[in-house]
Amino acid sequence: MKVLVAAPLHPKAIELLKNEGFEVVYEEYPDEERLIELAKDVDAIIVRSKPKVTRKVIEAAEKLKVIGRAGVGLDNIDLEAAKEKGIEVVNSPAASSRSVAELTWALILAVARKVAFADRKMREGVWAKKQCMGIELEGKTIGIIGFGRIGYNVAKIAKGFGMRILLYDVIKNYERAEEVGGKFVELEELLKESDVVTIHVPLLDSTYHLIDEEKLKLMKKNAILINPARGPIVDTEALVKALKEGWIYGAGLDVFEEEPLPKDHPLTKLDNVVLTPHIGAGTWEAQERAGVQVVEKVVEILKQ
Ligand code: NAD
Repeated sequence: MKVLVAAPLHPKAIELLKNEGFEVVYEEYPDEERLIELAKDVDAIIVRSKPKVTRKVIEAAEKLKVIGRAGVGLDNIDLEAAKEKGIEVVNSPAASSRSVAELTWALILAVARKVAFADRKMREGVWAKKQCMGIELEGKTIGIIGFGRIGYNVAKIAKGFGMRILLYDVIKNYERAEEVGGKFVELEELLKESDVVTIHVPLLDSTYHLIDEEKLKLMKKNAILINPARGPIVDTEALVKALKEGWIYGAGLDVFEEEPLPKDHPLTKLDNVVLTPHIGAGTWEAQERAGVQVVEKVVEILKQ
């Protein structure tokens, strides 16, 4: 059986496929025309957030049984077309949870202690000791919006920091909340009481601009907002206003309404925001797990 790997995949994942006796064809990010050609006689296709597996590709792939996505989002795969042809679609959603949670903490600490700002000043030859007064976290309150895989990992670390934990989610996992010492509250209460607010919900109609001007105004003046989920969950225009006018202390953002973030975007002009280029899942460990876990699922289906 033949597996087309159409995006960079961890070497361990490729090795696993070969050890299981599959022929592996590798081509990085082929365009639609090329993908149609490559997919003609394969049993499985493995992709990441690219390339797009369109209806045309799926219809041309006569032997295709499974599409694997190393990672979470499935928006580059035509799920409807796959379903119609009885092709399974598998992914590895839990592979990067810990890494995203750890980046969340990198952002919290960078904002609280002005690490990025201090580093910029050092490089300018400025010893900005007085401007770098920060916030201590122990005993403070963290509000976690979305207590799923990533939110739970963020909470476990928060417990170690000795923080009070407030949770907001449409589904309430009380067992996990108890494990981390967290308490479910309404969003308004979370925003009013938290010193750190961190977002871990998916982007849905119900979460688009969930954090808007009105919600930002509920937050404490010395609160930190972290968004490592999806850019459009926060109204960027309102956030820029909040950061400029001091409604909140600062923000840490890994995701943006427009990615890549345009070079002269207003956010890049502010000292109280720390920006990273959507690197939440960008660790060796997460990438290895994403590859290996999706290959394991693909192999299981092909061997049925
Ligand atoms: P998850 O599905 O495990 O958890 C999401 C939680 O949000 C669930 O508990 C769900 O009940 C809750 N939720 C959904 N809609 C809600 C709403 N309207 N109000 C309140 N709660 C709501 O997902 P996860 O694995 O923890 O990932 C969370 C998000 O993180 C992903 O959807 C993705 O957008 C983002 N993410 C970012 C990166 C990155 O590189 N920065 C990497 C992976 C995932």
